Amino acid sequence: MCLTGASKLYDKGSSAREALRSVNLEIHKGELIAIAGPRGSGKSALMKMLGLLEAPTSGGYHFLGVPEQSLSEEQRLWFRRRFFGFVPQAFNMLQTTSLQGNVALPLIYRGLSAECCQTAAMRALSVVGLEDCGHRMPAELDSTQQGKAAIARALVCNPSVLLVDAARQASEKPLCPEIETLLRKLNTEHELTVVVVTQSDSAARWAGRVIQVNGGAVEHDTSGLLH
Ligand code: ADP
Ligand code: MG
Repeated sequence: MCLTGASKLYDKGSSAREALRSVNLEIHKGELIAIAGPRGSGKSALMKMLGLLEAPTSGGYHFLGVPEQSLSEEQRLWFRRRFFGFVPQAFNMLQTTSLQGNVALPLIYRGLSAECCQTAAMRALSVVGLEDCGHRMPAELDSTQQGKAAIARALVCNPSVLLVDAARQASEKPLCPEIETLLRKLNTEHELTVVVVTQSDSAARWAGRVIQVNGGAVEHDTSGLLH
């Protein structure tokens, strides 16, 4: 994944906002990365760009060597579904559906058989340590379990890259240690590239690389310190 001079301008008439300013970033397969920064610094905009949810307004983004500008809408969707798992800022669970049903949803949308969806959902739940909770409703879970369930739902389609924008709105809280451990496990044992929005103080503890953003620009990147 490679951003070159990538900027993102949200143009709302008179109040245009530059969420990202000329970002250069190379992310390699198998990295475990934390993106940190104050509210409004462009963390979510960066994640959306990496995950092909939004295109840069200037500059470029290559994913697997493919320039994103060259993709049709259909191809973009295919890449997104094939390679990325998203954990959104709000977990967006359907409250009237069991955990297993929630985790199976991305596969149901793809038209797979019910049996196949349920089996894959149980497998994903067991990867995150919730194998005994498939029948429970989202409201019955504590916040750590909800985070794990959202990760299971992102894993169910077997992505190569997991993008976690799990910092809640009020303050970009540190991840709880259990989720940190899970993300590390997914990164090492399941060979997933993992990119997580989180708080910098705690991130240094568990992430292989911390990218600090501020005002839409990369202010600090620990990968430079490794070379
Ligand atoms: P963070 O995730 O670090 O809190 P964001 O990436 O969500 O920051 O936002 C970066 C900047 O872009 C903020 O100033 C925000 O107000 C603005 N922004 C984000 N999304 C939109 C949007 N859809 N329309 C207009 N402005 C936006
Ligand atoms: Mg955000």
